[in-house]
Amino acid sequence: MSNPGRHTMQIGAHALVFTGTFDAAGLTLAIEKTKKAGFDLIEIPLMDPSSFDRGLAASLLKEHDLAATASLGLNESTDLTSPDPSVVEAGERMLTECLEIVHAMGSSHLCGVIYSAMKKYMEPATAAGRASSAAAIGRLATRAADLGIHLSLEVVNRYETNLINTGRAALEFLDEIDHDNVSVHLDTYHMNIEESDQFSPVLDVGDRLGYVHIGESHRGYLGSGTVDFGSFFRGLARIGYDGPVVFESFSSAVVAQDLSRMLGIWRNLWQDSDDLAAHANLFIREQLRSVQSIELH
Ligand code: MN
Repeated sequence: MSNPGRHTMQIGAHALVFTGTFDAAGLTLAIEKTKKAGFDLIEIPLMDPSSFDRGLAASLLKEHDLAATASLGLNESTDLTSPDPSVVEAGERMLTECLEIVHAMGSSHLCGVIYSAMKKYMEPATAAGRASSAAAIGRLATRAADLGIHLSLEVVNRYETNLINTGRAALEFLDEIDHDNVSVHLDTYHMNIEESDQFSPVLDVGDRLGYVHIGESHRGYLGSGTVDFGSFFRGLARIGYDGPVVFESFSSAVVAQDLSRMLGIWRNLWQDSDDLAAHANLFIREQLRSVQSIELH
């Protein structure tokens, strides 16, 4: 039944499971603990790229034989949908620096809310803002392609962007960008808020799915909320998805000033990062193992 050759999929954890600070100590702790929990990959948030030590990250990843991806959400001063050209320019400059960091870390993936600010907008997206973002992402995609990097646009709920709230909306936006190295990033936490179910959007996105976040409805322990993971993993098996699958969870026990505030992490859903991470690693691998058997039915 098992076919080890098919296991190209990398299972990862978001670094915020372990730390909210990315100085040398925080980075070392997150990489060591991600490896120890059994993951193949760590997703590193680049909320402050100018202070991030890419050389240290590269050497720690190599030392611990761990793959990496990077993610971020833009803010009001880097919003690619802004009507102010200097803000769009600042966003492109920051994302270009992120691409260089991703490359320096030996990674090939940048994802997240990289197409707008990650915030609650008080107005719908405008046609001009959308066009501005699509054009900027297109230029970044060209730069990313030169570095062998893939961009994935994270579909998030209405309280975190006004541009891409569903898988289908992401596909429409991708058509406007029209670059092979830009794909859709689905997150079960956001899907649970905005989509009809956890199965159809995976099939709709199909081979344009490039990145996956696994998060529970309250962002705590997997299996303790309302997300229908069975349907989501069946969807991944059906489309033959083999990209990164990354566990994302947040608690007030681990705080990254800006990110935690933006995401509304006010409650303590877990204390013990090590236990949470080890549990998530097993949960995800068991789900994948179960659905892999479906091809024999
Ligand atoms: Mn996410």
